[in-house]
Amino acid sequence: MFALNFNKTTMHIFKEKEALMDHLKSIKTPDSTIGFVPTMGALHQGHLSLMQQSLAENENTVVSVFVNPTQFNNPEDLSKYPRTLEADITKISELNTEIILYAPSVEDVYEGKILSQEFDFDGLENQMEGKFRPGHFNGVGTIVKRLFEIVNPTNAYFGEKDFQQLQIVKKMVKKNNMTVNVQGCAIYRESNGLAMSSRNERLSEQQKMDGALIYKTLNGAKEKFKTNSAKSVTEWVEKVFEKNTSFELEYFQIADETTLLPCLRKNKTKKYRAFIAVIVNNIRLIDTISLN
Ligand code: AMP
Repeated sequence: MFALNFNKTTMHIFKEKEALMDHLKSIKTPDSTIGFVPTMGALHQGHLSLMQQSLAENENTVVSVFVNPTQFNNPEDLSKYPRTLEADITKISELNTEIILYAPSVEDVYEGKILSQEFDFDGLENQMEGKFRPGHFNGVGTIVKRLFEIVNPTNAYFGEKDFQQLQIVKKMVKKNNMTVNVQGCAIYRESNGLAMSSRNERLSEQQKMDGALIYKTLNGAKEKFKTNSAKSVTEWVEKVFEKNTSFELEYFQIADETTLLPCLRKNKTKKYRAFIAVIVNNIRLIDTISLN
């Protein structure tokens, strides 16, 4: 463990799981709760909002910064993923120096075997991100399970931006009888509507401005879904992106929020959500909106 001095207060930063676990054991009381925010770093306001929620609801908050190799299906995406640990430490310490940071090496987490466990998420893993990123959710399940075992949190905070991931983590917790309470948190956006993402750091200013189209289209889809079928809304979205040559639409899907299965015929009793993935200059951006 090392401690940094910021404004005369000390922030605990751990590189090794044993030291983190010892520390958590030493501060935990029978009544105290641990809130946990797993991240891959390159922190932005979206991540910080998750930390704020955890700080408000728990005696202790643990944040992890770890770029998890097993969830990347594309080696270029992994190698180019922004890694900004020093800036991340500054942002966390400016938010609250009581946050406990776990920023391990790949070795500390994987102990020489960089492999995913195989999971069955009752089909949630076969839709959208799962279709376009083979193996991604086995990697997510592997790292989240391992981090939960290390941190043993009471509450864990995940962004709705990665809504499929949020549902998959909830499923994993249920299927493995884990005690952690998984909470979904609202999406933070740039002023033009572009969902905040660590990958946005790789976009030019022009691309960030153009990125407003993604959320604008999601809002258009929400409006159209009131009076049109999922199929016709999907066709409309595909046309919008056909006209726009700087973005490649990977998928747009309207799905049941619980099963994530595509909406074939609207059912008033179900909650639906639109999901989108677009590629700009080899950078993959995702977003989602609740439809009803
Ligand atoms: P990441 O570092 O991208 O793995 O994200 C870590 C956590 O932050 C995940 O639970 C994400 O869903 C969440 N997150 C990422 N971007 C946002 C955002 N714009 N608003 C809210 N949460 C977010």
